Amino acid sequence: MSNLLLNDFHASSDYIGSEKKWIFLVFKGSVILRNNYFKDDWLAFDCSSAELFADVCKTKLCIGQFKGIDCEVWALTDNKLGLKEFVSVELRDLLVTLDEISFAMICRSVQLVTWHESNIFCGRCGEKNSMSTNEHCFVCKRCNLSFYPKISPCIIVAIISGDKCLLARQSSWPAGRYSALAGFIESGETAEQAVNREVMEEVGIEITNLTYFGSQSWPFPGQLMLGYIGEAKDKNLRVNELEIAEAKWFKFDELPMGIPPSTIMSGRLIERAVFTIRNKVI
Ligand SMILES: [Zn+2]
Repeated sequence: MSNLLLNDFHASSDYIGSEKKWIFLVFKGSVILRNNYFKDDWLAFDCSSAELFADVCKTKLCIGQFKGIDCEVWALTDNKLGLKEFVSVELRDLLVTLDEISFAMICRSVQLVTWHESNIFCGRCGEKNSMSTNEHCFVCKRCNLSFYPKISPCIIVAIISGDKCLLARQSSWPAGRYSALAGFIESGETAEQAVNREVMEEVGIEITNLTYFGSQSWPFPGQLMLGYIGEAKDKNLRVNELEIAEAKWFKFDELPMGIPPSTIMSGRLIERAVFTIRNKVI
């Protein structure tokens, strides 16, 4: 199996039995790090450092391998912040600073812990679930239902028109914060149908020339964001205030300060939209 591993991070539910091991520590959706961590630091602990948390570790799950070394997440029952050298960091604050590989490992760690804590009992018959021995899957022995980590696909779309890009603010966001339109894919829909529906529901316009941009895991709790760029057929917005607080057209070189950073896909999507506009209008 080892010669089939990817070089950087290889997601897997199986250990390869490497001599070393990297351990990620998760408590209530936050990640435990050294209190002097820097944004480019390696976020996992070696076995001897993690040992300080062994007495509050309730679950250990393999997340895969990094460069051939087994990686594991520990779900903790206490964050032990009495130990002054550690700090508990909110996932949202952490993710915007991470490189792609650390992002993948942290997302997977937190999502597997959430899955493990949320599927103790069968959702159909109420029996206590058993853990599969060969993959991350709970199985109900009474009714045979399986419970894999749940992934919820969502779309996010940057819409352009002439020299402008459409950005919106959700009502829960502070003033000045904007991003591209986004929403969950409904059962039975394609991603493209979901884009068209969300745009119509939220800002009342039709779009065309939809192109796929890329995807990113977004662990709140288990979203998979599929990014698109589209062009508006009509610029006259009819904003649905039940769905979003505001939506505006911004000239490509006058975007607001409060847009997502380019370390996450929504930020890169907006950058690509700006690049697309520049190529058309300049
Ligand atoms: Zn069952």
